[in-house]
Amino acid sequence: MDTCTVCKSSDLICFLKTSKLIYWECKTCAAKILDPQHYVSNSYEKKHYLKHNNSITNTNYKNFLLKLIDPFKDKILTSDIGLDYGCGFSPALANILKSDGFKVELYDPFFFPNKDVFLKKYKFITCSEAVEHFFNPYEEFDKINDLLDNNSWFGVMTAFLPKDELFENWYYRRDPTHVVFYQEQTFLHIGFQRNWKVVFPSENIVLFHKK
Ligand SMILES: [Zn+2]
Repeated sequence: MDTCTVCKSSDLICFLKTSKLIYWECKTCAAKILDPQHYVSNSYEKKHYLKHNNSITNTNYKNFLLKLIDPFKDKILTSDIGLDYGCGFSPALANILKSDGFKVELYDPFFFPNKDVFLKKYKFITCSEAVEHFFNPYEEFDKINDLLDNNSWFGVMTAFLPKDELFENWYYRRDPTHVVFYQEQTFLHIGFQRNWKVVFPSENIVLFHKK
């Protein structure tokens, strides 16, 4: 692997080899990245996502999503139009926001591949449990930057990296569709590269503000 998929730096070290998988660490943005030779196929990915029990009737999952939605709701207005980017096949987060009166459109490359969204600008974008699946995060964050209107918010939920010694046995790493892992430094760098302000309101949540 020559360049970091998150920030494009070439300052990478081989961090871990385990069960034939190779993980790299970027010394610039501190992301950890699965070597692209181990990425699963699109058809495997789609089947895997269909198994997730992410329905809104699942109370634990709803409480989990509220960790992102609660700090985010203070920043946006019900008159704003937002986008749930990578919403999956049952868009629970968008449904919660809609039930609170917000207008939310959907995009997911597998389940809601509505390319019309790329012609619009949004006052807010949510991305829950999706960024860890990005094969090309740098390009995805650039796409999101293009989708964000002036004075808009972008909220992300993903499990932040644990201490190095816990990485190998971390449940989040062992999901074969999770290919990139972030920590605060990574998100600060992602924000720096796009001139976004960065806020960490609670565990595993980051909010970006585009001026
Ligand atoms: Zn990097």
